[in-house]
Amino acid sequence: MISDKVRVRFAPSPTGYLHVGGLRTALFNFLFARHHGGYFILRIEDTDRTRYVPGAEENLIKTLRWTGLDYDEGPGVGGPYGPYRQSQRLDLYAEHARRLVEEGHAYYCFCTPERLEAMRQEQIRRKEPPMYDGTCRKLSRQEAEERKKAGEPYVVRLKMPRTGETVVEDIIRGKVVFQNAVVDDQVLVKSDGYPTYHLASVVDDHYMRITHVIRGEEWLPSVPKHIQLYRAFGWEVPQMAHLPLLLNPDRSKLSKRQGDVAVEDYIRKGYLPQALINFVALLGWNPGTEQEIFTLEELIQQFSLERIHKAGAVFDIQKLNWLNGYYIRQLPEDQLIAFLTPFLERAGYDVSDREKTRKIILAVYKGIDKGEDIAEAARLFYDSEVKIEEPEAREMLAQPSTRTVLETFLQKLDQVEGLDLETFKVIMKEIQQETGIKKKALWMPLRIALTGLTHGPELPLVIDIFGKAEVRRRIKYVLDTYLASNPEA
Ligand code: GLU
Repeated sequence: MISDKVRVRFAPSPTGYLHVGGLRTALFNFLFARHHGGYFILRIEDTDRTRYVPGAEENLIKTLRWTGLDYDEGPGVGGPYGPYRQSQRLDLYAEHARRLVEEGHAYYCFCTPERLEAMRQEQIRRKEPPMYDGTCRKLSRQEAEERKKAGEPYVVRLKMPRTGETVVEDIIRGKVVFQNAVVDDQVLVKSDGYPTYHLASVVDDHYMRITHVIRGEEWLPSVPKHIQLYRAFGWEVPQMAHLPLLLNPDRSKLSKRQGDVAVEDYIRKGYLPQALINFVALLGWNPGTEQEIFTLEELIQQFSLERIHKAGAVFDIQKLNWLNGYYIRQLPEDQLIAFLTPFLERAGYDVSDREKTRKIILAVYKGIDKGEDIAEAARLFYDSEVKIEEPEAREMLAQPSTRTVLETFLQKLDQVEGLDLETFKVIMKEIQQETGIKKKALWMPLRIALTGLTHGPELPLVIDIFGKAEVRRRIKYVLDTYLASNPEA
């Protein structure tokens, strides 16, 4: 038994941003740990110096914090099995690589990149799977030591058995069998002395007492190499669960070309963490019921690896939008205003009048899916020109009764002090009685003159936000522009 408590890890490579697939991996690890009262660990896999991106780790941690998936051990938090950043554990990997070579499970390889490339080209030409041909596997230990001492650059490779099979019992996929003959002699230590992911993650999973490795399906082909490493070291293999691929709606692998893949992009566009978490939880997992809305607490209670399916999970942005709209509408008013105001500001609108901003948000938030949508929904309150573009609105303008309603409204407006809702209702009633115009023909001209739209925020809210002077200005504007030159149009 590695540990009697569940211990799982999210082990991202800090290459720039948190991918939604990474978030799904993090979430499933988190839910599994919390469900079992275990530990969720963050480990930074930063040994690939060619992919190093300054600031990527901070960014990743910041994004993870935003999602609310707190980790129990990891950078910035500490823990009994640290450090949790691989670049700070290099001696440990070097020592284990040496041990593998000494015990005959790995070997030094001096093949130059040019030779490897020529070999690869030749294999492709012969339609063979590209893999290392084993040249240096045959070197004697003595010869290898001499070449190493002479300063020849080298890597360390795993001596993968050439016969037999390696079997893993994956929690999600069941029994998976790999033919050893087609598994490459994986590089474990690169010529720069840094370990590859394979060596570092096996060593760390062991010393960090990881009980379950839960990660994306793309890592499945690495499993036989890892199992050979565990065996070589004489360590117990953790349980494994490989999560289904994320797919675009056309069932190709989820890609940037078909939509955003960085969690940051979703934050920027105004998705809420609770919506994104709810959505991502359903990418490959389902509770076996009709339930679609989940709090994090409910997810923790209901989550199990057994209910994850093997088939790829389609990333359906419509569903995310629907969930996000739902969560936006659930926000208490003060949080709603605090969440949406920055999006108005970003769109260049003046939000300094806080009361007015609040009213505008309350008038339109029900129709939006994500934060940034508020700018378009609220535009009519900030544009000084009334834009009437909808064909249905233009048709309405062409009705002779529209002019009558608007002109009568203006006359009556000039006779009142201010325009509160009561006054507005009285005016409308009077127009109805005096002109006989009613219902849609009575209300729609006002709506169109004030907002430019046939649908949208409720008229009393619009009146309240604009106030008498602006209502007057807008109606006059529409009479003078849209209804001036050609009264029939
Ligand atoms: N560093 C790997 C990644 O970037 C981790 C894979 C694993 O979980 O073993 O996804």
